Formats: sequence, C-alpha cells, structure tokens
Amino acid sequence: MTTEITIKANPKFIKTFQKGFPLLNNDNVTANLDNHQEGTILNLVDSHHRFIAKGYYGKQNKGIGWLVSWKEHEAIDQEFFNRKFQQAVNQRLHFFYDEETTAFRVFNSEGDGFGGITLDYFNGYYLIQWYSQGAYSFKDEIIRAIRELPNYKGLYQKKRFAVEGKYMEEDDFVHGERPSFPLLVKENGTSFAIYLNDGAMVGVFLDQREVRKLIRDKYADGKRVLNTFSYTGAFSVFAALGGATETTSVDLANRSLSKTIEQFSINGIDYEAQNIIVEDVFNYFKFAVKKELSFDMVILDPPSFARSKKHTFSASKDYKDLLKEAISITEKDGLIVASTNCSTFDMKKFKGFIDKAFKEIGGSYKLLEEFTLPEDFKTINQYKQGDYLKVVFIKKQ
Ligand code: SAH
Repeated sequence: MTTEITIKANPKFIKTFQKGFPLLNNDNVTANLDNHQEGTILNLVDSHHRFIAKGYYGKQNKGIGWLVSWKEHEAIDQEFFNRKFQQAVNQRLHFFYDEETTAFRVFNSEGDGFGGITLDYFNGYYLIQWYSQGAYSFKDEIIRAIRELPNYKGLYQKKRFAVEGKYMEEDDFVHGERPSFPLLVKENGTSFAIYLNDGAMVGVFLDQREVRKLIRDKYADGKRVLNTFSYTGAFSVFAALGGATETTSVDLANRSLSKTIEQFSINGIDYEAQNIIVEDVFNYFKFAVKKELSFDMVILDPPSFARSKKHTFSASKDYKDLLKEAISITEKDGLIVASTNCSTFDMKKFKGFIDKAFKEIGGSYKLLEEFTLPEDFKTINQYKQGDYLKVVFIKKQ
C-alpha cells in the first residue's frame, strides 16, 4: 500500500511549481519526510491548502523527490505508467523503425514525466535505471508497463541508490530472456558490444550519438586523433571508420584495453594498427609534450569527478587546465572536441572555460559545432538542469 501525505510548497516557489518545475528539494518545500517511507505519494499544496501537483518521496543526489502530475485526480497507478511509457515510445517511433540504430533512450526521467528512472533500449532488451528507493517502490507497475513495449525480449536494471547515486552490484537481470553477451547493437551503422549484466556501465554512453556521427562523417578523415578518457574507445572507432590515419585511446582503467580491442574488432578494424594506452591522462599529456607529439584532433570527455592515484579532477574546477594541456598538443588548425556531462555548470560557463584556456595560453580559436542532449534524452524547459550534456568542437587557430 502506498501512503499519501500533504506537504506545503515554500511560497517563493509556488509559481515555479505551477509552471511545471518537477524537482522537490529541502529549499522549495516545507516538510520533514524522514519518518516517511520512500515512495510515499506527496500532495503539494500552497499556503491556502490548494492543490498544486503530486509526486513521490525519493531521495537522490538532486533532491528529495519528483512531481509527476499536475492533475489533482490523476492516480499514480498501473494506467498512469502505461500511459507515460506509451507516450515516450510514441515520441521515439522513428528510432524503433531505424535498422541502423538499435540502441537509444526510451524514457528520460523528468523529461518524460517521471523523474528518478531512465529506460534504454538495446536491440529488444531494455535497461531500467532506478535513482532512488522511492522510484524503485513503483517497480511492479513500471516493470509490467515495460513488458508491453515494442520488441520486448527482456529487462535488466541498475539500482543507483546505494549512497549518493552509487550503483549497487548484483545480478541485474529482471525478467524475460537473457541474451548472450556481448549483445551487439548498432548506432548509425556502427556496432557496439553491450554488457547489461557487468557492473555499472554497459559499454556505451548513448547521449553522444550525434557527436560520434559527426566525428566519423565530417571531421575524422585523414586525421591523427587522440581520444582521452576513452573507456571502450567509442570515439576512436568512429574516427577510424571515418578515415582517421591513426587513433590513440587513453584511459586508466585496465578494462578499457580489452573493451577497446573488442570495439575495434566487431567493426572490422585491425586494433593493432591503433594505439590503446592504459594510463592516467594527465601523465600521458606530460609524456606527449616531452616527446613532442601532436595531434590533428583531441577528444576530451572526462567524468565530472575522478580521483586517480596522483590527481583529483573536478570538471567545474579543472576543465580549463585540461583544455590547456590539450591545446598544447593540438596542431594549428586542429580540432579539440571538448565534452562534459557535469550538471553544475551550463554551456555559457563551459564556453567561458574554453575562452579562458586560450587566453591564458595566448592562442586564438573558433567554435565550430555545439551539442546538448539528443532528442531521445528528452528534457523539459521547466527543468533546464536536466540537459547536462555540453559538447563543443573548437578549431585551434
Ligand atoms: N569518452 C568515453 C566515456 C568516458 S567515461 C566514451 O565516449 O565512451 C570516463 C572514463 O574516464 C572512464 O573510463 C574512466 O576510467 C576514465 N578516467 C577517469 N579518470 C581518468 C584519468 N585520470 N586518466 C585516464 N582515464 C580516466
């Protein structure tokens, strides 16, 4: 049984909520929910006890819950979830019909009307990610709704609500068939090896689809490419397929070597002709400067926060310095692809880091392309923070 309680909006935020802002946090509501169970339905009211919206209690790093309906008499029941998922699918039908792209996001949290969960599609297999215990409390209805979705073969999950959104290691299989892994999917004709039951990450970050395509189709031909924080080497593979004369992938995780070899191999590229280096990127930059290496394209896609043996990297503090390192080993007229998924700063600030990096070095540049989240990672205007991705193609002049 889900319980239901009433909470009051902070008067300063009433307008914002009425317009559709979905996130509840300790600033914008006056409620102490500590004694309530996650998943409790919250009726948000104004100072006169008038209904604004309803949501649920679920603590995650961003807040304490999400508003999911602005209709007083809408129940959060099986029908509700069936409708939400159906709507999300309807907006992405062209993906389901596209034989060249068989991996994409089907449901993007608050962007699709229910914060705290995401759902991705991998060639008939679905992956749900739960961001709070509260979101997970709706699992029976949500899983039932997912089983009705197009081409459904099976469902996997990632629970990301241990501490601060951390992934909980367990068997991630939920229902249906288990494919044999790697599960091969396609993105604009290029293959990816996917592992749905092997830790927190599955092998690809789907939000970079358009960036990879542009690198392959427009920028890679004839270039020597350095791909830093390369993970499974997705950008390197697209660059190689686009005619790069050489790619160098650098990541400090041991797993990145075998994963990158696999990624090249399933796309028919001889990995031995590529450089795959397991090392701290910051050490690699030093090495590259010492050896006077230079590249025509340098890709930067660091995590928002990372700690290695010698370095702590925080995108909001250190991105500018990372750019300076990249600039110093990029050829004149070369390209830097700077990417970040850090949600604590916006595109304007990100461009500020870029400008400052070039100014401090005394160099000039031109911005060529710019990306935020692709359409399957749906976001809403009322919650701009949801569009966390920022990618800029910069020409060094
Ligand atoms: N660019 C990748 C995704 C990057 S995920 C893609 O397109 O798929 C972030 C990666 O950064 C992880 O694989 C992690 O191992 C790596 N990483 C974190 N800190 C690092 C460091 N100091 N040096 C090299 N790699 C690092």
